Amino acid sequence: MRIVLLGGPGSGKGTQAKKLTEKYRIPQISTGDIFRAAVKEGTPMGLKAKEYMDKGELVPDSVVVGVVEERLAKPDLNAGFMLDGFPRTLPQAEALDKIMQKMGKGIDHAILVDVPDEELMKRLTGRRTCRNSDCGKMYHVMFNPPKKEGVCDACGSELYQRADDSEATIRERLNVYAEQTAPLIDYYNKKGLLRQVAGVGPIENIFAALVKILG
Ligand code: AMP
Repeated sequence: MRIVLLGGPGSGKGTQAKKLTEKYRIPQISTGDIFRAAVKEGTPMGLKAKEYMDKGELVPDSVVVGVVEERLAKPDLNAGFMLDGFPRTLPQAEALDKIMQKMGKGIDHAILVDVPDEELMKRLTGRRTCRNSDCGKMYHVMFNPPKKEGVCDACGSELYQRADDSEATIRERLNVYAEQTAPLIDYYNKKGLLRQVAGVGPIENIFAALVKILG
């Protein structure tokens, strides 16, 4: 099962990807997570990515495609994979098609987790993330607060607001999504691979809708 998850920043696709990869036992490949880990380690690629991430801009295609190509070459993908946050531009989608072609495989589903813009804005400004990257649990000050303010329920680490979750950066990320990523909806629709779920309401209901698609 090879899946691409599409959706705006804050659409909950990361949360759903985690749950789906547990159910279907396939690895979640999140380019955002890969970049955040590289930033934390202070690698040259991480330092480069950080410049773009902090501004809410996309990391250049050449960098992202290289990272994904490397990840897809690892030997743990027999049962498939779930791409979360990639592709985000048409050139990335085309590059993915080429990589798949080389592997002699194809993408089975491109699933859009659809959430209106105003809702995304509300969600992202209240988002808090666990600083412990092994945990990475996410909260929301209004919709999903931790038991103790600023502290992760799961591991007790401090919660923080990602640099790219500030209001100005969020606006930029939403613009970038509309301009560069939304065209992928049409791209996958034309290939007959697009599936769609409404990304509003309880997490479990959205998950159930996704499972219904995937079987
Ligand atoms: P995410 O956690 O998926 O929201 O990603 C956080 C940030 O990492 C994005 O705002 C981009 O700056 C960068 N990023 C992640 N995935 C990609 C991608 N496929 N193409 C370009 N930039 C990306």
